Order: sequence, then C-alpha cells, then structure tokens
Amino acid sequence: QNVRNIIREYMQVWKFGGTSVGKPERMKSIRQLITEDGQPKIVVLSALSGSTNTLLSISESLNAGNTSEAKAKATELRAHYDQFLIELYSTPAGLGKGQAIVEKEFNFIDSLIATAPYTGKQEKEMVALGELLSTQIFEAFLQEEGVSSALLPALDFMVIDEDNEPVLSVIEQKLATVLAPVKGKQIYVTQGFICRNPAGEVDNLKRGGSDYTASLIGGAIQAEEVQIWTDIDGMHNNDPRIVKNTFPIRELSFAEAAELAYFGAKILHPSTITPAKLKGVPVRLKNTMEPSAFGTLISEKSTDVEIKAIAAKDNITAIYIHSTRMLNAYGFLKRVFEVFEKYKTPVDMITTSEVSVSVTIDQTTHLDAIMSELREFAELEDPDMNQVIICIVGNFWADKEGIAIKVLDAIKNIPIRMISYGASEHNISLLVDASHKNDALNALNEGLFLK
Ligand code: ADP
Ligand code: ASP
Ligand code: MG
Repeated sequence: QNVRNIIREYMQVWKFGGTSVGKPERMKSIRQLITEDGQPKIVVLSALSGSTNTLLSISESLNAGNTSEAKAKATELRAHYDQFLIELYSTPAGLGKGQAIVEKEFNFIDSLIATAPYTGKQEKEMVALGELLSTQIFEAFLQEEGVSSALLPALDFMVIDEDNEPVLSVIEQKLATVLAPVKGKQIYVTQGFICRNPAGEVDNLKRGGSDYTASLIGGAIQAEEVQIWTDIDGMHNNDPRIVKNTFPIRELSFAEAAELAYFGAKILHPSTITPAKLKGVPVRLKNTMEPSAFGTLISEKSTDVEIKAIAAKDNITAIYIHSTRMLNAYGFLKRVFEVFEKYKTPVDMITTSEVSVSVTIDQTTHLDAIMSELREFAELEDPDMNQVIICIVGNFWADKEGIAIKVLDAIKNIPIRMISYGASEHNISLLVDASHKNDALNALNEGLFLK
C-alpha cells in the first residue's frame, strides 16, 4: 500500500501539546481550529497537561513498593478526568462514551498497579495512558459534534528499532494499512509520544515526544505542512523561562531549528526537525491561545539575520582525556571515538590540543564503562558533571567579522570551560557550569540582541 494513494493531496499534520488540550474549553477551541478551513488533517495530541508527570509519579510509588500511595494518586487523577468529561460533553450520549473510555483505561491503571513485579514494561504501559486517554476523549467529542473523524492507533504504526530509532519507511507502510479502512474522513486523531519497540511492547519517544510523532507522520505522508500548536507564539530568540525581553523568530531554516531543538529549546523535541528536513516538509509553530499570531515557519529557506537565537542544554558531562603517547595523534582520536561508539553514546562538543581531547556527553548510563575503557590508553581527569551547553545559532559565514568577539564580549564575566566554533556555519557552542547558566543566557541576550 502506498500512503500517498490513500490520503488526499494536501494533508497537514497538526500537533497540540499538553496545555493546548489540558482544559475542556481548550479542547473545544481546538475542535474549532482544526475544522475551520474544511481541510482534512491528521491531529496528534499529547496527554492533558500534568497527566504524564502524574503517571510517572504513580510509577515511582510502585517502584518504591508503596502501592497505597500509587492507588491514592490514581484516584485523584481519575477525579480530574471525571470532572473534565462533565465540562466537555454536552449530550448524555457523549458523556456516556467519555465515561466508558475513562472507566476502561483506569481499570487498566488499576491492573498495572496490581501487577507484581512492576517492571519497566508496565511502566511504559503506564506512561502511555496519558495520550491514550486524551485522544479517545477528544475523538468521542468530535463524534458528538458531528465531525467526520477516526482514531488512528499510534501503537499500530509508530515503531522504533533496536536502537530506539523510528524507521520512517516502516512507519509509512504501517500507516497506510491503518488509514486504508478509514479513508476519506476529515479529521484523523492519533496519539503523540507512544510507540512499539521491536519486542512488540509499548514504548515511547522520550519526554516531549509528541512533536517527533507529528514530524514522523508528516514525513511519512509527505504532508503539506506540520504545525506544532503550543502555549507560546513560536520559537523565541532565547529561553523565555529564564530571560526577559525575548521575542518570536518568524523564520528559521531546518538546520537552524534542528540545532536549537537539539541544544535545548524546549518548544521542540530534539529530533523533531530530522524527518521534516529529510522529506522537505515545512514545520510551523503556532500558539493555541493566540491563533492569529504568525508563529515561526521552519523550512528550507534561510534568512541572513546574523544571530538568530540562543538555547541551552542541561545535564551535560565533560570528560577530559590526555594522551599517554602510547599512540600517535590520529590513532589516539580514533581509539577515543571507538569507545563512545561502542557504548552508543553521542558526543556533543569536542575540543582538541596536541595531546588532549575534551568531549561532552549527555547520556551518562555508560559513563563508568566509558571511563574505564579510555583509561586503558589515556589519562583522565575527573569528569565535570552538571555542565550546560549554550548554543548560539545564526548565519556565521566565514567572511562575517566579529561574531566570536561579540559573543565572548557579551559573556566576558562568565567562566567558559569549552568553546566550539566552525563546525557548522550556524552554531557557536560554549560549555559553562550549570551555576552560570542563567547569567550566561541573560548576558548573551543583553549583548547580542538588545545592544
Ligand atoms: P507542549 O506541552 O505544547 O509540547 P512545551 O512545554 O513542551 O509545550 O513547549 C513550550 C514551552 O517551551 C514554552 O511554554 C516555553 O516556556 C518553552 N521554551 C523554552 N525555550 C523556548 C524558546 N526558545 N522559544 C519558545 N519557547 C521556549
Ligand atoms: N506527554 C508526553 C510528555 O509529557 C509527550 C509530550 O507531551 O510531547 O512528555
Ligand atoms: Mg513539548
């Protein structure tokens, strides 16, 4: 089956995040938004805001062996949903459908709570319930409102491989199979975040993964556009949670947006841009609370604004490696990177001198093993935990003068551990201790955007 033969020509994929579906009146306004233009869409929903956190916290209680605490949290969560339904549906039939959904899924939560031993498998099933609930509740609401709609179960088409990576071609095939029997509907609703692993178990695309779901679907169907609807008017030039006076950026290239997402701009899951870029599908960021705001358009196109935005990636570990001169310089680098490859641990920043290499990683699962293998041929200093990569994104063509000076001048009072400039034309990265993060972001904002 070819997915392009099944769906209509100009399908868009719209994703709504937790706050966008978190209240009954929000759900009502997105029903309006998605049907206004009469165009068919695939709508990806996150869990209601707070639900994924609560489900994880129920899991924590269970992992700590505290079943009664887990039950109490589940009861409180259920009460929240019961109230939500009453405010959402306007007919007894609609409400009845919603209540049946909540009854079924909370019975499942109870059965997970009762499972012994409670393992990682059950935990994944537990955190998947947020999206399973929000989508079924919303689709029943669309039915009540007479919208032509169907639910596409993400667990039937969103799959990851042994390396936890989604495989676009497989997703495309499976999606065609899921779409074929419900061809011709106006609105398709599906779960963000959740997927199946090669063992066939329920899994997920990591926190914030609904954005990634949307762009994977957009890539798979070669969508006209992917729209990410959230609680802010687009990608800002700096983290609005930490810096005052930030502003939305109207246009970003795929490369610029990918760097910002990867280096910590929370508005997008780090991998969101990859499938969109691969298939040339534009991504638009929009504000559910203010739909008429322009937002941000991410596409092939770049504008020649010099410095566009700043993002920060937390929980970085820096590893300092010195050659013992057992190996020559090129052999040394090769050995170093073989170790990171073996443990499937991505390296974010690298700096080198004649005899030393410093690298940063954000996955520390295998840190001890990596360190001990490196010690077989190198001397190591104690790693620095709790570092932050500050990433400055823009157009730094080689002939533009003074950008590095501007950046360094803006943060002259902040100690820098590492600097990376020149790897791409879009990125300058700095490593600072977490205690300097807020000062660094504010100083850069001041020096680069407000002067
Ligand atoms: P959703 O639940 O819709 O996925 P998120 O909370 O994941 O929403 O992402 C939106 C939030 O990202 C914003 O409310 C904002 O606080 C935060 N954020 C961090 N950095 C940026 C940035 N550079 N531009 C816009 N928002 C950002
Ligand atoms: N609900 C998931 C989370 O909270 C996925 C998402 O919202 O994108 O991480
Ligand atoms: Mg998000």
